[in-house]
Amino acid sequence: MKKNYDGLAIFFESFLCDKNCPYCIAKDNIQFLNENENFDKLEELLKRFSENGLHFDKFILSGNGETSLQSYETLERIAHIIFKYQHLFDSRRFYTSGNLFFDNQKFELVNQYFDQINIMVNSLNPELDMQITKYDKAIWKNHNIKQAKNIKLDISLTKYLDVKTFVEDIEERLKLFPNIKKIKLKRLKYHGEETKQSKWIKENRLSEKDIDELGDELSRHYPKYTNSKDSYFKINEDCNLILNAAGRKNPTKWIFIKNDKVFNYYDEELQMEKVLRGEAL
Ligand code: SF4
Repeated sequence: MKKNYDGLAIFFESFLCDKNCPYCIAKDNIQFLNENENFDKLEELLKRFSENGLHFDKFILSGNGETSLQSYETLERIAHIIFKYQHLFDSRRFYTSGNLFFDNQKFELVNQYFDQINIMVNSLNPELDMQITKYDKAIWKNHNIKQAKNIKLDISLTKYLDVKTFVEDIEERLKLFPNIKKIKLKRLKYHGEETKQSKWIKENRLSEKDIDELGDELSRHYPKYTNSKDSYFKINEDCNLILNAAGRKNPTKWIFIKNDKVFNYYDEELQMEKVLRGEAL
């Protein structure tokens, strides 16, 4: 029997970030934070997944916070275990807001053991990006970003995205960084409650009219395809762009590891026996 899940994710629960982005979902989720996480049983967990024939389309290592601010030892430990059980996953992805590229040792580790580095930006124009985040990510001038074997750009659909020049901007970026293999334009997700972050997202998200205009512009330049999961534009032979105007789907067929236990998207603990039978979600 096929025991396939869409993904397996480790979201660090201890918040580590020195930035203050106004839309920060990690801060929106502050009630879930836990200082005492450990990964002592991660290998044992993956061994059980492997023995029981489970498979995940993706593995992701992400915040809360900036993933690359975790200690080198923690990242190395997780990277080695995940690599050892790489047959469980089609791809292994690491999320960063850009800090990763400024730490050579961590960058080399991640570039070696993960298939893809996901970077979140708000605009391809660093000055517009900075108007939101109030700091210069400075990633495009960093030498490590050129060495990354596979980059995915997650670009948020906010008013700071330059819709009129987007096609020009992306082509320019791809000329300089042919290692960008995927681009996703997506709406920022908020959790419904009236937090400061949710309000910012509501006020600053790109209007539907502007998103339609962007879609039309992309259609005029690039062929559009649909696969079993998404519609995407083919920017060139090596790079696809997904315009996800609806926002991120709830990853309902995802399993989340926290403190060596397994949870669903809604933070409810799952029964291990069901997980191992492929019937937990
Ligand atoms: S860099 Fe990421 S974790 Fe840090 S404040 Fe910004 S959105 Fe939040």
